[in-house]
Amino acid sequence: MDLFEYQGKQFFAYYGMPVSPGQIAFTTEEAVSAAEELGTPVMVKAQVHTGGRGKAGGVKFAADIDAVREHASNILGLDIKGHIVGRVWIEKASDIQEEYYASFTLDRSAKKHLGMLSKEGGVEIEAVAESNPDAIAKIWVDPVDGLTREACEEWVLQASLPEQAVQGTIEILMQLYTAYTEGDADLVEINPLILTPQGNVHVLDAKVTLDGNSQFRHEDYAQFDETQTRDERETAAHAKGLQYVGLDGSVGVIANGAGLAMSTVDVINQVGGQPANFLDIGGGANADVMAGALEVINNDPNVKAIFINIFGGITRGEEVANGILEAMKRVEISSPIVIRLDGTNADEGRAILEPNLSDKLLMEDTMLDAAKKSVELVS
Ligand code: GDP
Ligand code: MG
Repeated sequence: MDLFEYQGKQFFAYYGMPVSPGQIAFTTEEAVSAAEELGTPVMVKAQVHTGGRGKAGGVKFAADIDAVREHASNILGLDIKGHIVGRVWIEKASDIQEEYYASFTLDRSAKKHLGMLSKEGGVEIEAVAESNPDAIAKIWVDPVDGLTREACEEWVLQASLPEQAVQGTIEILMQLYTAYTEGDADLVEINPLILTPQGNVHVLDAKVTLDGNSQFRHEDYAQFDETQTRDERETAAHAKGLQYVGLDGSVGVIANGAGLAMSTVDVINQVGGQPANFLDIGGGANADVMAGALEVINNDPNVKAIFINIFGGITRGEEVANGILEAMKRVEISSPIVIRLDGTNADEGRAILEPNLSDKLLMEDTMLDAAKKSVELVS
């Protein structure tokens, strides 16, 4: 679950971190009255689930109420990387002396939490990692031990922040770690974390991704459900009860079982292609489920070939084959389909498919060959 900046700041504030006062506004008039209450100068900030808002003209300084009106009306409705701005956050403007970067996320290969801190903040961290990797101080935290104050102090020293920023940064990083772990977040990022001319360290931007699976522990996270921007394909698939994740490629994937679906995605990549999705149709592969899956994939304009990868277990090969043929009668499919059918009664299933093969319906013996064929069809 991705939070808007203002939700992320409320989340941080709950864990004691210093954020600026502000109000959310859905219209220009609401933005104006928010600014009147807060007192100018304020920042007018687009709330979208993507970064780089500043560069896109979605973050503006407003010295007075007229400027608030102008910026709010320009920013509301703005398209930032495909996200249309529907709300702006009006925040009391801060004076900035320096901008830093701080985050925690999970480093899966290290099986540890990874903290990153840099005195080169405000810009994209990927750019810093590229141009000046030494400017990012990293810490790996064992989740069992947690982040000790000593380790945190050492980490902050490593980042060579100016003396006056050190204590405040340590405080905030300790709180950030607590928010990240107790709040069940996958990512918490502050960019920029600022040092003010008065010597205060302060949170100026918030990017938070919460683990949706932790919702049972956090009743209040239900409020974030309605503000999620969902992939239309995912919404359609979930409505049909399918386990679907949208991806950017051109090979549509249908597989039975999450493990097989993930392997299918991997194999397509391995042979130089790009999957359009992950889709697990579960144990059964009857005509209803298959038709639903084909419909979702067929509606994705990026899909140029479909790879159906089925390993029969309890579901026998002939049921799968009949399900596919029946589904193909119900859904008019615009891309060629490549089938790999194995497992229980695979021979019987293949025998049913055999007479129906054409340049629209192909079959391969192995997963690898079927992946190669699908990728060949899109290139
Ligand atoms: P992003 O572009 O989506 O990362 O949005 P940010 O919230 O990080 O804002 C972008 C930039 O706007 C920051 O790096 C700051 O330089 C600037 N900015 C944001 N808030 C303030 C503020 O309160 N005062 C001043 N002077 N600049 C700000
Ligand atoms: Mg930012």
